[in-house]
Amino acid sequence: MTEFIGTKFDLVVVGTGAAATTVASKCASAGWEVAIADSRPFGGTCALRGCDPKKVLVGAAAVMDWVQRMKGKGIQGDQAGIDWPELIRFKRSFTDPVPKNREADFAKAGIETFHDRAHFVGLTAIQVGRDVLEGRYIVVATGATPRKLDIPGEEFLTTSEQFLELESLRSASCSSVGAISQLSSPM
Ligand SMILES: Cc1cc2nc3c(=O)[nH]c(=O)nc-3n(C[C@H](O)[C@H](O)[C@H](O)COP(=O)(O)OP(=O)(O)OC[C@H]3O[C@@H](n4cnc5c(N)ncnc54)[C@H](O)[C@@H]3O)c2cc1C
Repeated sequence: MTEFIGTKFDLVVVGTGAAATTVASKCASAGWEVAIADSRPFGGTCALRGCDPKKVLVGAAAVMDWVQRMKGKGIQGDQAGIDWPELIRFKRSFTDPVPKNREADFAKAGIETFHDRAHFVGLTAIQVGRDVLEGRYIVVATGATPRKLDIPGEEFLTTSEQFLELESLRSASCSSVGAISQLSSPM
């Protein structure tokens, strides 16, 4: 294997999601020299494309559900409805600041940041763009990607990431591990 000489760190972390951020922050606060890399905007799935934006949409759906249930029981719900573009703008008010804030937090903690796809070029060496980072320890916290289903009609499916960026909502069928549901909009 070709020997690569790179910048030396105690720890090199690949990914900037919850897993990567936790280990990088703890090691940096213990005095370790830490580098972190991501090929996408910093923040990972939970904050940008998962838990947090999902909760904004689930919250709005829960309000609509309660209004429907309480109609005729002291609540006048005829005017209530989801304004999808406004809801997506509201969601973005949480997600848009994440990459800049996450990077600022890393800088404050003394963690060196790199933006590109990372791959191994040696047992303890990671290449990120033109940089080679050598780690006493390396943590791969690269999360997961949607699995191809290999079923007819797959091309019509919308992933959760695409769904969270839809500009308009007509109707959709949602399925996930353990849940299948039907959504429709009054728009
Ligand atoms: C729609 C949705 C809703 C969810 N809701 C919840 C919830 O309510 N509660 C809950 O507990 N969990 C929820 N999850 C799951 C949760 O988001 C994930 O389990 C969690 O984010 C995984 O974190 P991670 O740090 O392991 O990886 P991620 O946050 O996915 O981070 C991995 C990072 O690695 C980067 N990366 C990958 N390969 C490379 C490479 N070669 N080089 C450089 N960078 C690379 C990626 O760009 C990414 O930023 C949800 C997930 C989705 C999709």
